[in-house]
This record gives sequence, structure tokens and C-alpha cells, in this order.
Amino acid sequence: MNKKALLCLITILTIVHLLFAEIPKGYVTLDTLQKETQSTLYWDSITDTGILEKNGHQLIFTTNSQIALLDYSKLTLIDSLYNENGTWYVSQNFIENANQLFNSVPPENHFRIGAILIDAGHGGKDPGAVETVTIGGKKVTLQEKDMTLTVAKDLHNKLSRVYPDKKILLTRDTDTYLSLSERVEIANNVSLAENEAILYVSIHVNAAFDKNAKGFEVWYLSPGARRNVLSESSADEELLPILNSMLEEEFTTESILIAKYILDGLNTEIGENSPSRGLKAEEWFVVKNAKMPSVLVEMGFITNPSESLLLNDASYLRKVSLGIYNGLISFVTHFERSRGFTSSQ
Ligand SMILES: [Zn+2]
Repeated sequence: MNKKALLCLITILTIVHLLFAEIPKGYVTLDTLQKETQSTLYWDSITDTGILEKNGHQLIFTTNSQIALLDYSKLTLIDSLYNENGTWYVSQNFIENANQLFNSVPPENHFRIGAILIDAGHGGKDPGAVETVTIGGKKVTLQEKDMTLTVAKDLHNKLSRVYPDKKILLTRDTDTYLSLSERVEIANNVSLAENEAILYVSIHVNAAFDKNAKGFEVWYLSPGARRNVLSESSADEELLPILNSMLEEEFTTESILIAKYILDGLNTEIGENSPSRGLKAEEWFVVKNAKMPSVLVEMGFITNPSESLLLNDASYLRKVSLGIYNGLISFVTHFERSRGFTSSQ
């Protein structure tokens, strides 16, 4: 057979394959899964993790494992998901498992957010990003550490008012220097009840060589950063690595969810002035070492001539904190209505 004919045959075979490739019998899309279980699916396409939620129950599953996590405490086996042309499908068994879970009595011990730790980036001898601008003919030096503190304190006030029963904490409330590990230590040393979780929100201002760069972005822990979430005493040794990786995914998923809510909140408040640069994932030191869902907000660019003036304006910073506040409120409401996650040890 010559080359041309061979190519032709391959093309035909590919077309035939695409036409007749069959999705296994009874498998349905994630959309149908939601409809048939009347639940809400939070899908994270970065980690390929889904959280299916209904009646105070949560079912967490990933596309690369046959193990699913029920209500953050029990493991169960599920049929593998099936992928066809980028679309995921689940089996009827999967739907039955989900319905069984959703129709059972939800666990009594409802998880809640016990604390929110607001971290104002930089401080003291570390000014963060610095830019000199001319305002009304005068040269003024703007410092990231001042803007982050202003937003953090305002956010702290707002959250304290709405959540008198939660610990709303600041890593610093004055112009003091804190090392990154000191910030992590504060975060990890907050005392919580067993059914409580803590959120960590770090606030920063961006800088770039490109003076045109502008906008806000929210960072979350990247899936690559692995931590030992569960201690060895808390689970079967064999299951420990699996549980750990699932909880890890879950921290990531929750972090992504907080990040998304905050991004939406900021978009509503300052979207007219500043573009959203979206969600970003990286292994930030602070974020990685805090054993909790964590996000880092970059509220804008100090190096952009127009944005630096906005960031120097107290009423603009109040809008920024309102955006973050609304994002956090949405997350906490979602989280506490559904059910939390296992407290990390
Ligand atoms: Zn910074």
C-alpha cells in the first residue's frame, strides 16, 4: 500500500472510530448527574475534582481515582468516570451511590468556619512594592505595606461586625515586620474546635516592569503543593495516603472556590476601574504552608500610573475590601450551608 492510501485509510478509520465510539451503557454527563440527583456540582477543571452537594451531604470525587470521599469522613468505591472527547461521564451506579448518600440523615456535627485570618502583606522594614508618583505637583512615595494594612483593617472591621461568633484575626494591625514563617505560625496556631476550619486571606499589591500592566488577581494553592493533611493516628495506615491526597484536593478545591468568590466580589466593586486578571495558581510560601484553604489577593498594580492613584485613594481601598468581604461571605455561606471539611491535625 502506498503512503497516500495508508493516510486515507487512517483518516477513514479515525472517522469511523469517532462516529461509532460508544460511551458505556448507562453512562451520563455530569449535567445529567446533577439533574438526576437534584444536587449541585462544583467542578474544578484544574484538578478534575467534583464536589456534589445536597441535603447537607457532600460527595467528592476525582477523575483519576475510583475512591470517593463521603461527607469528608468516609471513603467509598465508585465506578471510574469515562471520558469521551473531553466530556466526562458517570455510571448509573455512581448516581445510585450519590442518591443513597443524599437521602440518608446528614451528619450531626456540622462544620463551620471558626476563624478568618487576614494577612496584610509586608510591613515594617519590608515595604513591599514601592512607587513614587506625582500628586498635585508633589512627589509622593506609595508603599504596598500601607495599602495592604488599610484594606486588611477595613476587612477585619467588616467581618468582625457580621461574624461576632467567629475569630476574625489580623497577622498585623500596625506597621510591623513579620517574616513569612511567622505569618504561617500565627495561622497554624489559631485554636479551633474540632468541627471548625480557618480561612487564610493574604493581601498584596502587584508591581511590574511593564507600566501598562494593571488589574487584580487572586492566587490559590496549586495542586502541586502536597502536605500531610491527616496525621497517622487518624486513619487506617493503608488509606492514609489516599485520604491525604483527597483532602489535599479538597483544600485546593475549597481554595479555588474562595478565590473565585473573591474575584467575583472584586469584579463587582472595582471591575469598572480595573480589569480582572483571573485566578492564578502557584506555590506561594505563605499559602502553601498554612494548613487551611488559603488565597492571596493582588489588588492592583502600584507600577501602573492610573492604578497607583486609585490604590492611594481611601475610598477605592474600601471598595477593594468590600469586594473581598462579599467574596468571603459568599464562600462562608456556601460552606456552612453545605458542610465543612475535616479539621486538619
Ligand atoms: Zn506583596
